[in-house]
Amino acid sequence: MSTLALHTAIPRGLRRPSLLLRPGLLSAQNTPRRYFSDVNPTPIFHFTETEDMLKESVGRFAREVILPKVREMDENEMMDKSIVEQLFEQGLMGVEVEEAYGGSGMGFGAVVVAIEELARIDPSVSVLVDVHNTLVNIAFRTYGSAVLKKKYLPKLATGTVGSFCLSEPASGSDAFALQTKAVKSESGGSYKITGQKMWITNAAESEIFIVFANIAPERGYKGITAFVVEKGMPGFNIAKKEKKLGIKASSTCVLTFDDVEVPAENLLGKEGEGDKYAISLLNEGRIGIAAQMTGLALGAWENAVKYVWNERKQFGQYIGDFQGMQFQIAQGRT
Ligand SMILES: Cc1cc2nc3c(=O)[nH]c(=O)nc-3n(C[C@H](O)[C@H](O)[C@H](O)COP(=O)(O)OP(=O)(O)OC[C@H]3O[C@@H](n4cnc5c(N)ncnc54)[C@H](O)[C@@H]3O)c2cc1C
Repeated sequence: MSTLALHTAIPRGLRRPSLLLRPGLLSAQNTPRRYFSDVNPTPIFHFTETEDMLKESVGRFAREVILPKVREMDENEMMDKSIVEQLFEQGLMGVEVEEAYGGSGMGFGAVVVAIEELARIDPSVSVLVDVHNTLVNIAFRTYGSAVLKKKYLPKLATGTVGSFCLSEPASGSDAFALQTKAVKSESGGSYKITGQKMWITNAAESEIFIVFANIAPERGYKGITAFVVEKGMPGFNIAKKEKKLGIKASSTCVLTFDDVEVPAENLLGKEGEGDKYAISLLNEGRIGIAAQMTGLALGAWENAVKYVWNERKQFGQYIGDFQGMQFQIAQGRT
C-alpha cells in the first residue's frame, strides 16, 4: 500500500458529495479513522471516511467499467473515449476543483486514493487522471487569474482533458534548459510561442495545454513563464505519438509551436515565475505518480495471487500451495 501517498492525505473538507458517492453518507463523515494494515496491526496512517468510500467506489468503477477494456486499449495504444467521458461523469477529473467550478471539492488525499485505485486495474487510465488533476487543475487553481479560473476550470472539471508541457528534446531532468521561446507583442496584448515539447502525457486527448516557454532567454531560468494554449490555435500542432513499452493506452506526444499567438490573458501567473510554478506543481505531480506506481504494484500482486491459488496447478495442486511460492507472495505483499 502507498504509505507515502497516504501520509499526505490531508482532508480539506468535503463540500459536496462526489458523484461517485451515495448521497446521505457524507454528512459529518469526514473524521479520520485508523487504518490497520492486514499484515501489520500497528496503525500507520489514516483514511477519512470519505476517502474510504471513494476508494471503494473508484475500485468498483475500475473493475466494472475499465477492466473489460484494458487489453483492447493496450493493444490499440488508444484510450477509449467512453472511459474518459465516464471519468468526468464520476467526478474524477475535478477531484480537488471547487464545486463552484463544477468540481468535486475534495482534498489531495482523495486524488491520491483515486489514482492508486485506478492504477490497480489500469495505470494508463490512472496517469491520465493523475496528470489532469495533479499538474493541470492544480496549476489553474493555484496560479490562475480569476478570468482563467472561470474560463478553464469548469471545462477541466467536466469534459476537457488537460496536459502539462515542460519537457523538450534537450531538456528532461534539466527542465529549465528549455528552449521554447515566447515573445511579447509591442502592444503587450499577446505572446508568440515557438518551439517544441516532448513526451507530453494526454496530448492526444487534451484541448488545454499548460506550456512553459522562456520570455527572456538571456536571463536563463528567470525568463521561464507559463501560458495556457488551446488545441486549434494556429501554429500549434499535436505531432508524433510515442510508441511505448508500457502504459500504451496513455498518449505521450511531441508538440510543435510555430509562432502560436496566445492572448495576454492566457499568461498563467506572472512573467518569469514559471520555474517556481513548475517545481511546486511537480512536487504534487510526483506524489501522484508514486500513487500510480503503488497501485500498479498492488494490482500486479493481486493478479499473481489469483493465478497461483485459483488457476495454475502443477503436480496435482495449486502452485500457491508450494511453500517456495508462498515466500514470494508474502515478500511481494510487504
Ligand atoms: C511516459 C512519460 C510521460 C511523460 N509525460 C510528461 C508530461 O506530461 N509533461 C512533461 O513535461 N514531461 C513528461 N515526460 C518527460 C519526463 O518528465 C522526463 O522523461 C524526465 O524529466 C526525465 O528526463 P529525460 O527522460 O530526458 O531523462 P534525462 O534527463 O536524459 O536523464 C537520463 C538519466 O540521467 C539521470 N540524470 C540526469 N541528470 C542527472 C544528475 N544531475 N545527476 C544524476 N543523474 C542524472 C536521470 O536520473 C536519468 O536516469 C514524460 C516522460 C515519460 C517517459
